Amino acid sequence: MKRLIFTLAAAILSLHGFAQTTERIASKGYALHTADGELKPYDFSRHPIGENDILIETLYCGVCHSDIHQGRGDWSPQSYPLVVGHEIVGRVVQTGLKVTRFKVGDYAGVGCMVGSCRHCEYCDSGEEQYCLHGRVLTYGDKDVYHDNEISQGGYSNNMVVDEQFAVTIPKGADIEKVGPLMCAGVTTYSPIMHAGVKRGDKVGIAGFGGLGHMALQYAVAIGAEVTVFDITNEKRDEALDMGAVRYVNVRNIEELEGLNNMFSFILSTIPSAYDPMLYVNMLKMDGELAVVGMPAAKDAPVVPVLGLRGRRKVWFSVIGGMRETQETVDYSVSHGIYPKVEVIPIQQINEAWRNVVDGKVHFRYVIDMKSLE
Ligand code: NDP
Ligand code: ZN
Repeated sequence: MKRLIFTLAAAILSLHGFAQTTERIASKGYALHTADGELKPYDFSRHPIGENDILIETLYCGVCHSDIHQGRGDWSPQSYPLVVGHEIVGRVVQTGLKVTRFKVGDYAGVGCMVGSCRHCEYCDSGEEQYCLHGRVLTYGDKDVYHDNEISQGGYSNNMVVDEQFAVTIPKGADIEKVGPLMCAGVTTYSPIMHAGVKRGDKVGIAGFGGLGHMALQYAVAIGAEVTVFDITNEKRDEALDMGAVRYVNVRNIEELEGLNNMFSFILSTIPSAYDPMLYVNMLKMDGELAVVGMPAAKDAPVVPVLGLRGRRKVWFSVIGGMRETQETVDYSVSHGIYPKVEVIPIQQINEAWRNVVDGKVHFRYVIDMKSLE
């Protein structure tokens, strides 16, 4: 009798989309099988839906340069097969019994993190990305909260994630373009806000790609006078159209004249080798260079302390906490700030990666996950 009641209760709950499964969730996506290989179709499974988890059917996933760096082992050796992708938006299809922020049918977003200890001083202050006991990145990370399995990302048809590591999507959001807000958005919004950039400040954005074009839009929305730095002339018109007051191709030495000692804040999103002193020297006294770009370990930029004369500051920033990720999404949607996207089927992902590395993307690829079917 007890068993019958339990089965009936489970059936009623599942009809309403509530679930707490003991079985793993079947998933399919595209994975890398070696550091230098191509991404190929891959079937795998995710941990069961816990009481605080939601199951998301992935609709779109952005293609971040970090997917390529990490997939290729630019920063550290990886384990394969590896499904990357951390700019995820989808629809909730099941909710664990204790989930309160989502119901079936809602849109949900997932960014670069899927877990953290939740009780250290950084987690307590909403900066889970700096968790003292180790946050779990969305892919390629040992998930200590789920039997040490290696996390797998969003180039796939679904995600299972604790609701605390998912963001709600405001009504009316342009769903196709929301995914990149989870990484390119918050990674640039966060340092701009933490630096206290304000109207009229002279701001520089170095690297005008997926992250850089989001940074430009946030700084322009605040009212800063923004100069964009990149290595070609190709994106000059787009930068000016998006509100930059100046575009500098750093490969033309003459365009750099007169810029030293000008900026109160510069954000570097550069993904490859460069000399950071070029930008440090452009800072005014007490100016700040925030670095978010993460070149391969062999190309990591180095700043000599004695080069920081005039109390110039250089700091590094990693994505943003969950509270700030939600704030970024809400702010972006309410201000109409979105990435410029090229939507592609997943079958074009290898070509898309080559184009990102070759600087041929304007400005973010987004994979339409329907193409997986
Ligand atoms: P993109 O490839 O989309 O953009 C990079 C841009 O930088 C391109 O426009 C590129 O030009 C330009 N660029 C390359 N070299 C230089 C240079 N020497 N000087 C000026 N501009 C240059 O990459 P993303 O925006 O997706 O990512 C940027 C970096 O940020 C990556 O290293 C990524 O891993 C990192 N990242 C860091 C995060 C964090 O939390 N700290 C989070 C997310 C990403 P061109 O197009 O001509 O090649
Ligand atoms: Zn990213």
